[in-house]
Parts: sequence; structure tokens; C-alpha cells
Amino acid sequence: MPPETLFISDLHLSASRPETTRRFLTFLDTRAKAAERLYILGDLFDAYIGDDDNSSPNREVKFALKRLVESGTLVYFQHGNRDFLVGEGFSRETGASLLGDFAIIDLYGVPAVVTHGDLLCTDDVQYQAARIRVRSSEWKQNALSKPLFLRQWYARWYRFKSGLDKGKKTTEIMDANPEAVIDTLRDHGISILIHGHTHRPAVHELNVDGKPAKRFVLAEWKSKGQALNWNSNGQWFIEEIT
Ligand code: MN
Repeated sequence: MPPETLFISDLHLSASRPETTRRFLTFLDTRAKAAERLYILGDLFDAYIGDDDNSSPNREVKFALKRLVESGTLVYFQHGNRDFLVGEGFSRETGASLLGDFAIIDLYGVPAVVTHGDLLCTDDVQYQAARIRVRSSEWKQNALSKPLFLRQWYARWYRFKSGLDKGKKTTEIMDANPEAVIDTLRDHGISILIHGHTHRPAVHELNVDGKPAKRFVLAEWKSKGQALNWNSNGQWFIEEIT
């Protein structure tokens, strides 16, 4: 088998979704070990309140990632809007490398840009403003300085509130903005974009200034998981993870 790179996102792991956690742990201990690289493009966790939270499933997930890295698979993690507090501690504990919001990667000679996807949803002005606020180092330091039990309480409140807000927004506003997608590809001079976040899995054929481009949107893990597999022969497949 040629070397392979796998991409996943939006698992939204939490104590209330034990099935998804089990599926992911099995994936890490079996399928992912056969891959050369694994990219996790954000929202691995449904709520992440700091590297010091070792409650389930965080603890099991960190151990399984460590086993995978030790087996020789390179693991990369990009922040999602739900788990942007994943920090250096997580990276140290697991051996996964943290990537910036837009990362240029090499797919066996082909450059691609990977991102969680929330930054592409530029129509959601309210979200983008809140994002700037909570991603500042002051906000993060202040949040992480709170006792763990307070952060747990806040996370529960936030998930409840975000569920309410989502119901009020139109589906267009929650999707990637077509111009933001084209700008991202043009700015990086790249013809492959891979992201998650919108939970609208697809492979979009695009045209950037007369040149063909592709946008891969990864699926959310629900009753099944999904991974994009890209191999060194330049072939790609969408794999179902059961
Ligand atoms: Mn997201």
C-alpha cells in the first residue's frame, strides 16, 4: 500500500457520545496506524476547557493519540471553534503537532491548505466578532486561570446557549462564504482546500482565476465516522469509519 494521509474533523467527542468515542479509539488503534499522517482539523472535542481536564473521554483520547504517535504515525491537530483551548500540554502529552488556522501541507508533492472552516463562514459577522475576542491571549489566559469546576459549568452553559443561537441563524449564514473560499485558495496560490466545521460533506469543483481547484468538506462523525484518505499516488478516497 502506498503511504497515506488521513483527514478527519468534527467528531464532537463528549461524555454524552460514548459510541463516537469508542469508534474513534478503535480508529486510532487500528486504521490510523496504517497511515503515515493523520490530520485532525478541529472540533475533535465538543467542549474543551483546558489541558488539565482529564475527565472522560479526554484522558482515553489523549492516551490513544500517544499510542498512535509512538507507533510511528505523525499526528497534526488544528483548533476548531469548540476546542480552541487545546494547548501545548495536549501537544506534549500526545505527541501531536498543533497547526495554525490556515496550514499549508504537502500531499506527496501537491500543496494543500487545511483549516477548520469557521473562518470561511464570513457571513456570520456576530460569530467572527466573538471569535476575535475569545482567541486573544488575554481571554484565554483569563479563562484558563479559573478553577476547573467553574470552566465545566461555563462549558455546559455555553453549549446550551450555542444550541439556541444556531436555531436562530439561517443555514446560509452558517455555511462557508464562496468568496472567502476563493480568496483563501488565491491568497495561498493553492488548488486544494480541505476543511470541516459546516457538517456539509462534499467535494466541490471550483475555478480560481481560470484554474481548476477542489474544496473537500469533511463530514461530522455521527452514527458513522468518515475520513478523507490521500495517498502518495495522488489518489483520494472518502472512507467510512464504522
Ligand atoms: Mn466547528
